[in-house]
Amino acid sequence: MSLALPPRNLATQVGSIITRTTTSTTRRRMSKTSFSSITDQNPDEPPANWEKVLEGIRKMRSSEDAPVDTMGCEKAGILLPPKRLLQNDLLTADAIDKADEATIKSLIYPVGFYTRKANNLKKIANICLMNYNGDIPRSLKELLLLPGIGPKMAHLVMNVGWNDVQGICVDTHVHRICNRLGWVSRPGTKQKTSTPEETREALQKWLPKEEWVPINPLLVGFGQTVCTPLRPRCGACTVSELCPSAFKETASPSSKSNKSTSRKKPS
Ligand code: SF4
Repeated sequence: MSLALPPRNLATQVGSIITRTTTSTTRRRMSKTSFSSITDQNPDEPPANWEKVLEGIRKMRSSEDAPVDTMGCEKAGILLPPKRLLQNDLLTADAIDKADEATIKSLIYPVGFYTRKANNLKKIANICLMNYNGDIPRSLKELLLLPGIGPKMAHLVMNVGWNDVQGICVDTHVHRICNRLGWVSRPGTKQKTSTPEETREALQKWLPKEEWVPINPLLVGFGQTVCTPLRPRCGACTVSELCPSAFKETASPSSKSNKSTSRKKPS
């Protein structure tokens, strides 16, 4: 069996590791009683109007103008920093295992946490060589044992690398938006979920399985362009009348949004 890691799978794993209007004051806010069907729902049942909301978000996303539309992990190896790994013949477990960590670090810069990710890539490459004949693990359980791989990445790798959908890939955008829409709550309560993992479990209870893969890029892009972490653009959102959080977070402190996110270049 070849020790070379299939480029598609390694690119997926690398990409997964390193990646990742005016509000009208006259607009009517929905009253609390308007959402009683959402807040009082059985958490195992689909929330009211979820299909309408999903369709509305799909329409808003039809222009595909979000960063995720060109930089999703499926593009790893073509457009993303792994391209530089490919150009340097570093898309096999063997090559990464032998490569200098500083070189990997400089090639994946400027992705977030590039130092830790370069270190994890080395460790993962070694584990793949030792335990999986240079391939990546085939199961969710084994993926979760790799350094730096949590449920979000493990599900993403299973979906994209193995075409084996075992769960929803819930990142910070999916987690935030599902809570704003009132789609998820903590088990046995009506409280919001507090972690992406809780959101994944709550969402999987009712969302049809055929939506488990498309929901991620759909909501990630929606979160990058409209339902943003700070000051969501509810005035431009066509599903605001079905959203229990509409216009409730429009006065976020400006200081947080102005924080610098620049990263120091690797030496
Ligand atoms: S109305 Fe606002 S909070 Fe609700 S989904 Fe739209 S942008 Fe997000």
